[in-house]
Amino acid sequence: MNYRHSYHAGNVCDVVKHTILISVLDTFFSKKKPFGVLDTHAGTGLYYLEGTEAAKTYEYEQGVKQLWGTTPKNKLLEHYIKIISAFNSDGILKYYPGSPLIIDRFLRDTDQLICAELHPEDGKSLKNTLKHQKQVSVHLQDGYLTPNALLPFSQNRGVVFIDPPFETTDEFSNMCAAVTSGLKKMPQATFLLWYPIKEISDLNPFYSQLRKLTEAKILKSELYFYRQPEKNKLNGSGTVIINPPWEIKETLETGLSDLSKILAFEKGAPLIIESI
Ligand code: SAM
Repeated sequence: MNYRHSYHAGNVCDVVKHTILISVLDTFFSKKKPFGVLDTHAGTGLYYLEGTEAAKTYEYEQGVKQLWGTTPKNKLLEHYIKIISAFNSDGILKYYPGSPLIIDRFLRDTDQLICAELHPEDGKSLKNTLKHQKQVSVHLQDGYLTPNALLPFSQNRGVVFIDPPFETTDEFSNMCAAVTSGLKKMPQATFLLWYPIKEISDLNPFYSQLRKLTEAKILKSELYFYRQPEKNKLNGSGTVIINPPWEIKETLETGLSDLSKILAFEKGAPLIIESI
């Protein structure tokens, strides 16, 4: 395992995936009924943007820094900035919250968050960061096995967030296997899967594999960074939502369209939000 998220925290992909995650959590939070969240690839939780790792890549400058200090009219983007600001209360962008800390902000006493992280150091620091949160548990184990091992939530509804590092070529099929077992345990759960858009030819087989798994509704959101995708390049950020919450498509269409104008590297880069 070479991947460390501290080199990439707050980059363009984080901004897109966390905006979508927040839109899903908003819909769960809007109802009183308790919910659970499983974050299968949780990372360390909090990232110091002035630390040596982040300073090696400065990826956050093309990501969260583009939104910092802006006052977007779109409610979803406004909410995203509000959450990032909560970790930077002196008004200077120094910290970026990873998915567990973002999710934690939505939890009420009756909700729960289960995190898995395989890297021993990152898992340990996540455990330490969240040790006072009684609704949160952290498991130092292979996250792909957790939908089978840890679902269903005792709450009758919830979200499974699968955000692997894409270090190896089998991540698409590992995600599909995790969804298969997760849907068996909790068919009504919402699954949120993130993937980088690199080789366009990888995408159709992934959609077909997902389509074969379930008859549930599947929505994809793909925000491209360039007008024309090219080989061997990070062309965009993709997310699939299985069992998408009601009306999320409209929320994403307006929010991600505004986000694309801020983040895309070329004007006119596509934004595709559609069912598969
Ligand atoms: N979800 C995090 C966020 O949004 O802040 C970032 C996740 S990062 C893209 C992927 C994480 O998965 C890394 O921290 C890596 O150590 C971890 N990881 C890699 N393989 C794993 C596995 N099989 N199970 C659990 N975690 C894994």
